[in-house]
Amino acid sequence: MTANIIDGKLMAQELREQLAQKVAHLPTAPHLAVILVGNDEASIIYDRNKKKAAEAIGMKCTIHHLDENTTQEELLRLIQQLNADSSVNGIIVQMPLPRHLNSELMIESINHAKDVDGFGIYNIGLLHSNDSSAMVAATPQAVLYMLQQSLGDITGKHAVIIGRSNIVGRPLASLLLNHHCTVTIAHSKTVNLSKIAASADILVSACGVAKMVKGEWVKPGATVIDVGINRIDGKLCGDVDFDEAKEVAAYITPVPGGVGPMTVTMLLNNTLRAYIEQNSSLKK
Ligand code: NAD
Repeated sequence: MTANIIDGKLMAQELREQLAQKVAHLPTAPHLAVILVGNDEASIIYDRNKKKAAEAIGMKCTIHHLDENTTQEELLRLIQQLNADSSVNGIIVQMPLPRHLNSELMIESINHAKDVDGFGIYNIGLLHSNDSSAMVAATPQAVLYMLQQSLGDITGKHAVIIGRSNIVGRPLASLLLNHHCTVTIAHSKTVNLSKIAASADILVSACGVAKMVKGEWVKPGATVIDVGINRIDGKLCGDVDFDEAKEVAAYITPVPGGVGPMTVTMLLNNTLRAYIEQNSSLKK
């Protein structure tokens, strides 16, 4: 068997076209504010891509690029200013922050209605309580969207998620549970990981270990979603040994061109949703 490739780039392009059409009918452009502190190269590239993607669908994106030595008070003041600015619909603080800044405090300082990353405790609580008003982190949403587009209904499927981080593994576990999957979370201390992985109908890897998931870890006919972004000799690869896994799985995402482009799209989707919530007269 050779798996069907889940084309994240194409899915993202289609979804962005739909978002662009919705944005075109709004009275003003939804506005995403991105706070970037310091000169982390990957962060600068990520944020440039977010701005490009936002502008391509008619949204506004302002990057507040602050000096590496910005103080906690200065950063808090900017967040409060953006919270109070009714022309700003979504706020994200790009991680990682320089070590002298308290990341949790910054995330919690964002108004939860503008928390389009969905990292704040309030939105996490709503997600864990299966409250549909939760603003859900972009990567888990991207994974869910790709699963639903490929499989349709995922009720009753056994999903194994490798990774328990606050931005991917944990929120994804809640999201899939809310969509009636039976969920197993595996992590670096899990015993018999390969056997647990091989019991999955849906196997999601988000651990950041290049090509760790081998073909024999995949149940024949399973769907494999590879969230990992790693490099071997400078070349991008995921957590899954793609060449092996694609011979066993029914559906699989590539890296690059899988979850990555869908993640940015889901952030834009969250920003549009925040805009509509904040302009309640536009709600259908
Ligand atoms: P993280 O380092 O915060 O968490 C990694 C998790 O993997 C931990 O819970 C850890 O227990 C688990 N883990 C580590 N080594 C393991 C092993 N050998 N076996 C089993 N579990 C193991 O990372 P994160 O922020 O959740 O990101 C995970 C990966 O996903 C990274 O490669 C990251 O670059 C990528 N990522 C991609 C996107 C995207 O849009 N495609 C978004 C976010 C993160």
